[in-house]
Amino acid sequence: MSLAAALLAGPGAPQRRAMAKAITLLESTRPDHRVQADALLTELLPHTGKSFRLGISGVPGVGKSTFIEALGLFLIERGHRVAVLAVDPSSSLSGGSILGDKTRMERLSMDERAYIRPSPSSGTLGGVADKTREAMLVCEAAGFDIVIVETVGVGQSETAVAGMTDMYVLLQLPNAGDDLQAIKKGVMELADLVVINKADLDWAAATRAQAQIGSSLRHYGHSGQQASHPRVLQVSALKASGLDEFWSAVELYRKEQASSGGLEAKRRAQAQDWMWERIHSGLRQQFAESPAVRDLLPEVTGQVLQGQMAASTAARQLLNRFSGKV
Ligand code: GDP
Repeated sequence: MSLAAALLAGPGAPQRRAMAKAITLLESTRPDHRVQADALLTELLPHTGKSFRLGISGVPGVGKSTFIEALGLFLIERGHRVAVLAVDPSSSLSGGSILGDKTRMERLSMDERAYIRPSPSSGTLGGVADKTREAMLVCEAAGFDIVIVETVGVGQSETAVAGMTDMYVLLQLPNAGDDLQAIKKGVMELADLVVINKADLDWAAATRAQAQIGSSLRHYGHSGQQASHPRVLQVSALKASGLDEFWSAVELYRKEQASSGGLEAKRRAQAQDWMWERIHSGLRQQFAESPAVRDLLPEVTGQVLQGQMAASTAARQLLNRFSGKV
């Protein structure tokens, strides 16, 4: 049976093996594997896009894995199949891992209605995000109807995850409201929903944070949300409380987005952005590897450093050499 056929054959051990194999193939950097991976993606594409794609981020320790495990268990009890993927920016920076180095989501990972895959462990953030996007398509083709993509609240990874999901959720701690400066404005603006976790530690503080974050979201003039759904919720991932309310908010958002055409438009724009992101990154790589560029680069760089050539002139010369114009 082909890999695609095994993926599409429905739940079971052969499908799980095929998923692992397919994702490994997608993550491979060997050119012949890439050709196979592209053929596989093309075959799978008609079977993708039917899941709800949920992005979740927050600083280390906010409770992401606890929350995702509780949510995952909540969802599979309700008949869903849940895939959890990760974009770990640290893997591209240091080769280490913020998300992957502990045993995570033990109960969820043992359930066959769930599929958990750690972050691709090498490459640039763009490369890691790209592989996660492709892994998401594999999970969708295999019939997982909820795909959760997790990332750590540092660096550019939030933007990458918001750019591949239908809804982006930011987890916060109950004391977050005390220091709004600590909450990056840009990240707040990405959030379709803010969830204050660990509310069990201090319900009063969580309620205060809820009010403060709610008012700052209004202050930022957040445009990604309709007035009708809650912008800020409280949960306790540890006690699995607040999940019902959380999921209702997600469903409401999803319904609004689907009926307004917002979801379709968002996904189309994401696919186009993704294409361009990959084109830019491919061009950068080809440029760096081009023998013609390498020959000219030291001389031109020297002239720029010594103030003998304008940076823009140097760039033009190198680009012309790259594209074979001179
Ligand atoms: P992550 O780094 O964001 O994935 O955070 P973890 O899920 O590993 O959680 C970090 C710590 O916070 C762990 O010790 C959890 O048990 C604890 N934790 C997570 N959620 C809650 C919660 O809702 N309430 C309380 N009291 N502790 C929590």
